[in-house]
Amino acid sequence: MATLLKCKMVVLGCNPRFFSTTSQRLSQSFKLVVVGGGTGGCSVAAKFASVLPKNNVAIIEPSDTHYYQPMWTMIGGGMKKLEQSGRPMSQVLPKNAHWIKERASQFFPEENRLVTASGEEIKYEYLVVAMGLQLDYNKIKGLPEAFNTPGVCSNYSPKYVEKTLETLKNFKGGNAIFTFPNTLIKCAGAPQKAMYISEEYLRKHNKRDKANVIFNTSLGVLFGVKKYADALEKVVRERNIAVNFRHELIEVKPDTKEAVFRLLDDPAGNTKTFKYEMLHVTPPMSAPDLLKANKKLTNEAGYLEVDKSTLQHIRFPNIFGIGDCTNLPTSKTMAAIAGQNKIVYDNLKLQMEGKKPSQKYDGYTSCPLVTGYSKCILAEFDYDGQPLETLPINQAKERNTSFFMKKEIMPVLYWKLMLNGWWNGPGVIRKILHLGTGR
Ligand code: FAD
Repeated sequence: MATLLKCKMVVLGCNPRFFSTTSQRLSQSFKLVVVGGGTGGCSVAAKFASVLPKNNVAIIEPSDTHYYQPMWTMIGGGMKKLEQSGRPMSQVLPKNAHWIKERASQFFPEENRLVTASGEEIKYEYLVVAMGLQLDYNKIKGLPEAFNTPGVCSNYSPKYVEKTLETLKNFKGGNAIFTFPNTLIKCAGAPQKAMYISEEYLRKHNKRDKANVIFNTSLGVLFGVKKYADALEKVVRERNIAVNFRHELIEVKPDTKEAVFRLLDDPAGNTKTFKYEMLHVTPPMSAPDLLKANKKLTNEAGYLEVDKSTLQHIRFPNIFGIGDCTNLPTSKTMAAIAGQNKIVYDNLKLQMEGKKPSQKYDGYTSCPLVTGYSKCILAEFDYDGQPLETLPINQAKERNTSFFMKKEIMPVLYWKLMLNGWWNGPGVIRKILHLGTGR
């Protein structure tokens, strides 16, 4: 055991004071542990790693690649390449932090410790949970196998996103169906973005008159904020897109190229089957199983239960949450995380200093609703569903400038600023442009 411990310390290049042995297993302890090195975890870890001494911050993250997921929409339409959306995790995690390349597998919040998949114990003084959402493709009968058959694609996974363009290229004629599941999802606008881009692709390639473009959504509206829902209704009308509300995809039959939808408002629970030539699936999503399994940390639905203003856990004051895995009642986006990361940083710092967290998150989130190859509606809003637009113009209008920001500016902002902990959302810019009022 002693030899193993010594080897591990040498390999990791860590300060030995972080190591001790319990009866059987290796144990490390850190001032701050961040679980998840995605958008939220990476940006918060970067903030703390720049002010705490080296290796006081540990990040638990099993993946080799960090993806800028918002780019997948553009990849599906052939506007960017998959390689552009990913970077080695080792390059994006903060240098001053210690990366534990593992999966967390059990939390013991009362004991300020967790255990990783290899059985290693990690102790902490403070914990930030940033585990994102779990994609439940397997909750749809016939998936994920149907992704290996013609016509079935999804922008929601790096495994399937390139198939969206391939499917468009191979499209001969028939139904092009885009789905929205009966769960919370990340970037609630992305299923429609895939559809608008595909519709324009079909027009540009003279196949539109052979296509029925159909949006089958479990929701009862196109978008949760009326101002943008109205704008999107105009888009679907003008482009002759059929929208079927309260339709939930429950089965894919690749042999007959059929998709089965549950009619959510039908008291008899009937289903309706659609033939497809193209089927873009947005899968059901949920909190990670690991969180769902720990009732002390989560709400009924399995999301990390934090205070919606301070982002501090409601039962464990040394735990904070950020991003998609939390119960925050706002739309789950990278933009929301930009609005959350400074709040987590400020409040956790206050907590470390023995003071009460006082900074408040207003629920800011944003969704660049790309409506094709050159235009975008830039939705920005808060917890109350009130528009919180950065620019002093009507952002519900389809604009080239919004599209340019989404396609070219936001990726740079993400890789260069956000992952280094330097981007806290456009709040300051909004205040300046709106003459100090912030609205
Ligand atoms: P993630 O970035 O998903 O990171 C979670 C991390 O936790 C992962 O790295 C995972 O490996 C790790 N993890 C999970 N379980 C464990 C475990 N047990 N132990 C250790 N680590 C674990 N947002 C926008 O703002 N604008 C957009 O235009 C936009 N478009 C989108 C389009 C698509 C197609 C998609 C998929 C998303 C889009 N988003 C958009 C949403 C945005 O990408 C997410 O909201 C954001 O990345 C969530 O960040 P997160 O840190 O909560 O989770």
